[in-house]
Amino acid sequence: MEDVDLTLKCIVVGNGAVGKTSLITRFVKGEYTDEYKKTIGTDFLETEFYSESADEEVTLHLWDTAGQEVFSTITRSYYRGSALCILAFSTVDRASFDAIKKWMSRVEEECGPIPMVIMQNKIDLLTDSSEVSLVDGDALAKELDLPIVRTCVKDERGVKELFDTLVSTYFDLK
Ligand code: GDP
Ligand code: MG
Repeated sequence: MEDVDLTLKCIVVGNGAVGKTSLITRFVKGEYTDEYKKTIGTDFLETEFYSESADEEVTLHLWDTAGQEVFSTITRSYYRGSALCILAFSTVDRASFDAIKKWMSRVEEECGPIPMVIMQNKIDLLTDSSEVSLVDGDALAKELDLPIVRTCVKDERGVKELFDTLVSTYFDLK
């Protein structure tokens, strides 16, 4: 069968300063170069991605919340048509970890049960006394029945794995 170019809208949600914008810009600019596309009130970046696990090539539209990290300020159009979601928190910000459940509920309200992955970012700052441990992350993933991927957007660690996990989940569920 001829390969059909599948475009998937992927939203990245989570509290402010956890690394969402960094993730999107790093991922897109590290792999390919694409221009920033402006839409009404929101921006997204486009990139091609080959998922090894799924053996599928997709076009991803990565939607940033552009600083609107308060639930109520994110418009319906931001969520509309999303196929994938990254729930992001920071290893050094307990409140961002505690907010993941709320973000997940919000996304489910707006998008239904789409594939989601938890992103534990700033793993470079993990210590014995950091605000969120690996055990905390595992417990949350288990509770929410979602995969979790540890990332350091700073040096790109885990970033490909994050998208690979998400895209392969999409194809598994299809
Ligand atoms: P956003 O508000 O979720 O979009 O967060 P940003 O992408 O703006 O990142 C917030 C801050 O965290 C910036 O200063 C980033 O440079 C920094 N940051 C992002 N990812 C990492 C990471 O993996 N490790 C470290 N140490 N800092 C990071
Ligand atoms: Mg941002």
